[in-house]
Amino acid sequence: MLSALSHTCAWLAARRFLGGKALIIGIVAFVTTSPFAGPAENLTSPDPGPIPVAPKPATSEFDERAVAVVQAAVRTEAVHEIVVAQVAERNEAASQADFWATASNEYLAAHYAELEKSYKHLHRHPELSYCETQTSAYLVKQLEGTGFKITRNFGGGNALVAVLRNGDGPTVLVRTEMDALPITEQTGLPYSSEAESRDREGNIVGIMHACGHDIHMTCWIGTARALAGMRDHWKGTLVFIAQPAEEIGCGADAMIREGLFTKFPKPDYCLALHCDPQSVAGTITYTPGLAMANIDMVSIVVRGKGGHGAWPHMTVDPVVLSARLILDLQTLVSRENNPTDPLVLTVGTVHGGVKANVIPNEVTLQLTVRTTRDASRRRVLEGIERMAKGVAVSANAPEPFVKINPNWHTPAVINEPKLLNKTVAILRQGLGDSHVCQRPPMMGGEDFARFGREGIASTLLFLGTQAADKVALAEAGDDSALPSLHSDKFAPVMEPTLKTGVKAMTLAVLNLVGKDPIHPTIRKSSDSTARSKVR
Ligand SMILES: [Zn+2]
Ligand SMILES: [Zn+2]
Repeated sequence: MLSALSHTCAWLAARRFLGGKALIIGIVAFVTTSPFAGPAENLTSPDPGPIPVAPKPATSEFDERAVAVVQAAVRTEAVHEIVVAQVAERNEAASQADFWATASNEYLAAHYAELEKSYKHLHRHPELSYCETQTSAYLVKQLEGTGFKITRNFGGGNALVAVLRNGDGPTVLVRTEMDALPITEQTGLPYSSEAESRDREGNIVGIMHACGHDIHMTCWIGTARALAGMRDHWKGTLVFIAQPAEEIGCGADAMIREGLFTKFPKPDYCLALHCDPQSVAGTITYTPGLAMANIDMVSIVVRGKGGHGAWPHMTVDPVVLSARLILDLQTLVSRENNPTDPLVLTVGTVHGGVKANVIPNEVTLQLTVRTTRDASRRRVLEGIERMAKGVAVSANAPEPFVKINPNWHTPAVINEPKLLNKTVAILRQGLGDSHVCQRPPMMGGEDFARFGREGIASTLLFLGTQAADKVALAEAGDDSALPSLHSDKFAPVMEPTLKTGVKAMTLAVLNLVGKDPIHPTIRKSSDSTARSKVR
């Protein structure tokens, strides 16, 4: 009993003072002094390689148990070696992230003022979808002298593709969008938009980067320039693209159809950023798997029989039918859809009639439909057509025209898990854990999804854009604190949003094309080299 107690004390003491190795030492001590002990000569320095078979000089049951204990000890040692190797690898990765983060910070310290100037310029001069001529030219100018080979006017519009080859290695695509929205800015910022256009009725409307594409472009410029300056630290090919017409869901598809992946190096990975107006500036948020919804646009022409407003009985009033249909359509969401399956159906425009006492012949509705599953998408689109026809039948009206144009469809954004996990890991190391947070999926859409649908591992990261006090107010229930994307008051905080976007994307790309891991000792001597290369 005393012997057993002393073994136990030795074990506990060893665990306490020696940590991970104590288990092995404890087992060894126990075996070598125990009445169950077998031969001790090969126990003191166990071979971490293949598990040796212990000699078997005795055949008693006690000896069998002793051998089993020894083998367990050796296994434990092997596991210990693996853990040590993993910790070393993690430390090396951390030093790598630290090195890249330092290089990014130094680039930003030297060039942030230029980036802010670029952002203000782009914000002040927005252009609508497929009209991004000046914007595209501006981006080309920003990449001059970096070594990127630029192709302009690609993809049926103003798209540009900038390629930087730097030896053998993976090909990484980084995407920005260039287009803005027909919104008159109401932010009151000194660098507010000065651009105007005419709407379909000929009215003058403002144009605004209300979706943050000016932020994305500025981060894209900064990342391209930073990586061009760090080319001693990575190997591979960068494909930086600026796509037109994201707001109408066409630009990415047009570029792919015109040969983005056949006329230029086909990427192994695609990365993009999008502003997240609900998150604090300085943070990156991400969503594993499904990140954004399927988008469909539907146009319905509700047909009736026009006439005098004072003799409705001699007409079939499409205004009344439209009102009925708009309400009926919401039952597709509330009554026909599984409540756990996200679905949004919004009637965004209603156009009909020109005078109070004239019942028109028809009314046109435009809808946006957001789903997350292909099956729900099919069901709701069929349901819209069924209800539109049903309302017409109920009023003895002509059959409506329902148009579901496949060109108006944008698929859901699905982040590829391996790429996302790898990217999130480097961002946590480079930006700090508290600056990288998971967020739930959203029902907005993005045609960046097209790249993933081409079978390329893709990840879209969200970039926080708001002051912390405003986010806190919004979380406390003040709805006015945080204007959403597409709001005329959407005003991202420039710093640290731009810095975080450039740093995050630079880290994400280096994580895919970076050269051999940098050993901490090498790192010290190469710091000055990196500094001189970053411009
Ligand atoms: Zn948008
Ligand atoms: Zn957008």
